[in-house]
Amino acid sequence: MNINLLTELEAQSLNALIDNAENIVIFSHRSPDGDAIGSSLGMAAYLKQRGKKNVAVVVPDMFPNFLQWMPGADFILRYDKKKEEVEKTVSEADLMFCLDFNDASRTAEIEPFITESKAKKVLIDHHLDPNIDVEIKVSHPEACSTCELVFRIIWQLGGFDSMDKDVAVPIYCGMMTDTGGFTYNSNRPEIFFIISQLLTKGINKDKIYRNVFNNYSVWRLRLMGFVMYTKLNVFNEYHSSYFTLTRQDLKHFHFIKGDAEGLVNMPLQIKGMKLSISLREDTEKPNTIWVSLRSVDDFPCNKMAEQYFNGGGHLNAAGGHLYCSMDEAEMIVNKAIKEFKWQ
Ligand code: 5GP
Ligand code: MN
Repeated sequence: MNINLLTELEAQSLNALIDNAENIVIFSHRSPDGDAIGSSLGMAAYLKQRGKKNVAVVVPDMFPNFLQWMPGADFILRYDKKKEEVEKTVSEADLMFCLDFNDASRTAEIEPFITESKAKKVLIDHHLDPNIDVEIKVSHPEACSTCELVFRIIWQLGGFDSMDKDVAVPIYCGMMTDTGGFTYNSNRPEIFFIISQLLTKGINKDKIYRNVFNNYSVWRLRLMGFVMYTKLNVFNEYHSSYFTLTRQDLKHFHFIKGDAEGLVNMPLQIKGMKLSISLREDTEKPNTIWVSLRSVDDFPCNKMAEQYFNGGGHLNAAGGHLYCSMDEAEMIVNKAIKEFKWQ
């Protein structure tokens, strides 16, 4: 199967950028998910295999515990923890990779390091309409994940034969998490061709699944039960639902980063449900509500996120935020569910 992505010229330019670079920094987005961490670690491990000595992975803030097991995760630089080290590393960079985001604002406080740097930049992403000024832009919204794109680039550059588990495991992990364990956005044959190739590298996909999806505290399960039992509002006639998570709920259930992951997908298990929305109060900033949207079929979450929640994303998975109280946020969600017309 031909899974090459780049034109001949792009492949040559990317090879030249990598060959000529001494200090490489890989960035990903705020609240990094499996695809952000997986694509960054996979790319970093590939570049190191290619003989690049100075390769750093920088993210703005914390990532969930269930991603901590990945090879290389200990070396990720979090800007919120290591400001000076990040500033030094970034100031020395001559090549930057922007992975899994289409707009520098998705990287929060590290945005100026990307936009103001004179380093050469490469963007690899699967969100719509990227608008970062870069030398090479690999933008494929149809891809299941940025990890899929990273694999295809390494493949095209001839890096597959020498690929080891440090590359294969994070890449598989990001493809798995961005598709909910290959249950959505994962119908293209290329995905399973790639998986079959990754398996030849001796990755244990069943273990990777358990490491990610069966790695919670008992509090996460109790939180899940509580939310579905007492907090879920279902609008049958609109095939929609939403739930709220207040700061008080989070405290009560000993919330740690990642505990709310995937909860928003659960209401889609209801027969006929097309849209699920979660409203989560920030644990620190007052009047800040994080909104997540998930849908099935052709319901465009991203359009709703843009119109009502200051955000965006993909057709079936999007997010945004509201700066208001939870009561006001609930009013906005009610309005969005009842008024949104996408045809
Ligand atoms: P989540 O619900 O997991 O936070 O986000 C789901 C998807 O929505 C993310 O993969 C990302 O593509 C998109 N997304 C989340 N928040 C925002 C936002 O504020 N702006 C945009 N443009 N996309 C977002
Ligand atoms: Mn992604």
